[in-house]
Amino acid sequence: MPDDIRGIIEEAEMVLVGLGEEFQCPAAVRLLPEYARGKEAIQEAGFLWLLPAWDDYCECRANADTGAVLAKFADMLAGKNYFVVSVAMNASVEMAPWKAGRLVMPCGTASRLQCAERCDRKPIPLSYGDKCLLEEVLSGLYEGNFVPGRLEKLGGCEAGQAPMVLNNIYAENYNENGYLKQWSLYTKWLQGTLNHRVIILELGVGMQFPSVIRFPFEKAAFFNQKAEFYRINERLYHMTEELRGKGYGISQNAIDCLRNL
Ligand SMILES: [Zn+2]
Repeated sequence: MPDDIRGIIEEAEMVLVGLGEEFQCPAAVRLLPEYARGKEAIQEAGFLWLLPAWDDYCECRANADTGAVLAKFADMLAGKNYFVVSVAMNASVEMAPWKAGRLVMPCGTASRLQCAERCDRKPIPLSYGDKCLLEEVLSGLYEGNFVPGRLEKLGGCEAGQAPMVLNNIYAENYNENGYLKQWSLYTKWLQGTLNHRVIILELGVGMQFPSVIRFPFEKAAFFNQKAEFYRINERLYHMTEELRGKGYGISQNAIDCLRNL
């Protein structure tokens, strides 16, 4: 099994990258005792859409190097024709220096607000005031004093007085207009990989949203004669039989793998 991922990227014509759950919650974050406690409090209070913001907050508190690792990886990809699709919702993924327009985050992020109810208003970036409010609530949660009621002051939907929530898949009425335009660019790009030498890198993607990355990546590798597929994952690294000879499962944490390239 080839293990020189850097060399493989250097020789690739096109690179399809999938980023998954291992980026959502790096080891440094998992080790914080405050992390699990806060996550539980958010779930108990029913503010699930706050979870990606909590992950971002704890990533900062833990001094996780995910952002630096992804910046190095983006540099490595700079000369390539690539596209990144991420089910991780982190700011560190969103803020990495990818080529313009080459990232899609179909599960949303913690960086935009949407109306809590079914309404067509496009998701909007958080204002400075929204960011301060979020920071206040999350630092309170970190100290063991969670006051989710404060979040009612986020944004404010002009159309219907409904409260605003973070625009991600945990929102009860997830507004998909936040990513659909980018998704159509991605599917067009993906169609263009057929009959090209494409390297598929599935990094730390688990089974939380398998229809977004895992299954379509397997399918893309299967139908493209010239594709090579690398699945790098701490636990779920097994490759399907159909991809024998061009699909490789590597048992390693994806962040560790990129850090060591
Ligand atoms: Zn509304």
